[in-house]
Amino acid sequence: MNTEPSIFERIMAGDIPSEMVYEDDQAIVIRDINPQAPIHLLIIPRIKIPRLVDAEQDHREVLGHLMLLAGQMAEKMGCSDAFRLVVNNGAEAGQTVFHLHLHLLAQKRFDEGSLASPF
Ligand code: 5GP
Repeated sequence: MNTEPSIFERIMAGDIPSEMVYEDDQAIVIRDINPQAPIHLLIIPRIKIPRLVDAEQDHREVLGHLMLLAGQMAEKMGCSDAFRLVVNNGAEAGQTVFHLHLHLLAQKRFDEGSLASPF
């Protein structure tokens, strides 16, 4: 496994600035630097799990926490009636940062059934 700190770990360490929306002992939520929708948040566990498929049984609690946080962040941003969560797993699926994160996207019209082009 790559032991270099991920860009998200560097943000958590304060080495790289970001627009922090929320943080707790298990996760941070920041605005995406290159938003694909008017609301585009990244929900990131403090622990580095490179890809979703690398998650193990021990990560159940933090994975659940991320999902609950997604709902809470949608409430906080005023978009709880219409938002989309995306996890890219693997470079060919568009993953560029190998530290698991949920994209929360909202206030954009998502065409029905457009799963192939979620952004
Ligand atoms: P992925 O492509 O891995 O699913 O998503 C990575 C996301 O991280 C991209 O949407 C990209 O814009 C965002 N990102 C990359 N570097 C930074 C950064 O330094 N700050 C912030 N806020 N977002 C970043």
